[in-house]
Amino acid sequence: MRTHRTFEASITNPRQVSDDLDQLGRAASKLWNVGRHYAQEQWDETGEIPDDGELKSELKGHERYRDLHSQSSQRVLEELAEAFNGWFGKRRNGDNRARPPGYRKRGDSHPRSTVSLKAAGFKHDAQFNRVRLSKGRNLKEHRTDFVLCEYELRPDVDLSEWDIQQVRAVHKYDEWRLHFVCRKSIDPEPPGDSVAGIDLGISNVAALSFGGESILFPGNALKEDEYYFGRKKAKCDDSRSNERLRLDRKRTERRTHFLHTLSKHIVSECIERGVGTIVIGDLGGIRDDENGESRNWGKHGNLDLHGWAFDRFTSILDYKAETEGIDVTVESECNTSKTCSACRTKDGGQRVERGLYVCDECNTVANADVNGAENIRRKVTPSPSPDRSNGWLAQPSIHLFDCSEGCFAPREQVVDCKP
Ligand SMILES: [Zn+2]
Repeated sequence: MRTHRTFEASITNPRQVSDDLDQLGRAASKLWNVGRHYAQEQWDETGEIPDDGELKSELKGHERYRDLHSQSSQRVLEELAEAFNGWFGKRRNGDNRARPPGYRKRGDSHPRSTVSLKAAGFKHDAQFNRVRLSKGRNLKEHRTDFVLCEYELRPDVDLSEWDIQQVRAVHKYDEWRLHFVCRKSIDPEPPGDSVAGIDLGISNVAALSFGGESILFPGNALKEDEYYFGRKKAKCDDSRSNERLRLDRKRTERRTHFLHTLSKHIVSECIERGVGTIVIGDLGGIRDDENGESRNWGKHGNLDLHGWAFDRFTSILDYKAETEGIDVTVESECNTSKTCSACRTKDGGQRVERGLYVCDECNTVANADVNGAENIRRKVTPSPSPDRSNGWLAQPSIHLFDCSEGCFAPREQVVDCKP
């Protein structure tokens, strides 16, 4: 099995490389415009748009083509052809408002387009976290041959485990970032054939049930962040919009880190218990609470739980699990919060009070989120947990995000933290 990832890195020597990258990014925009102009001419003359093969062969002699490494120039023209194809597709589907790809120009200046380098265009130094990006022939003369970027990745990423297919310099949030497009072959054996269930929620980001044992992951670190960044942003006026941008970026980075760390932790707990399948409750179910009111984090900023965080969490968990041979399946959350996971009674006299699920039928008291997670788990493995008491339903272990360590740990080991 082949698995693909793109890792984003920040550049740690921006002062040394920004001018060079600006030059490359603007060169990519200029070449885009050359291609766009050529396409327009062909279109006017023949009524047809050239494909990427024609664009490349017609324009490879152009001055602007030689501003970038040949593969980078090819990639720009491929992107242009893809943009035209996307537009054709929309038109074919009846979208008459779709516009063809435009020119990349703002007044007299050019925006900084993404510059992609394939194997021949970069040299990676895994030991020192550096990568050399080639320039085109035209830009080499007065400066050095290449741009030497030093970078920093999330601490849990080790590029030496990967085969880097492409490096992209991407200008976003007003700075340059690097994207490493990677590949590796894996053939993992699943750790076992047990099944774990996950219920995603608000006050507890996740409840994890192994049947007979359960773990809760409170969302306190995320909540604190929402509160902290919400207040910070409220203090910024428009004149300090760079500061707002910086805060947004910081918050997104922290969220992403939280979700990565949580998925990694859940996968390692699953490996320990021989889990081969993780069942996750369908996100549709969390849009509303029992009273039909949409749940959110409260007044101090909604985490956009319906979309971003949970979709992203599921996809992160999916690929972390996949590399360990664990299958992730999504099941509808329908009725999982209303059913007693011990006696399977649904819509009886049960009630949820302060996070506890109480069943009048069998007198089971369970943590409501654990009850949900166990019901989700049972959607795939209908057999009840081996005859153990139901105490585990009411007493999950609680793992908190430890900001100082950047990892999850059982509650008693975690010190409180602020962003
Ligand atoms: Zn019951």
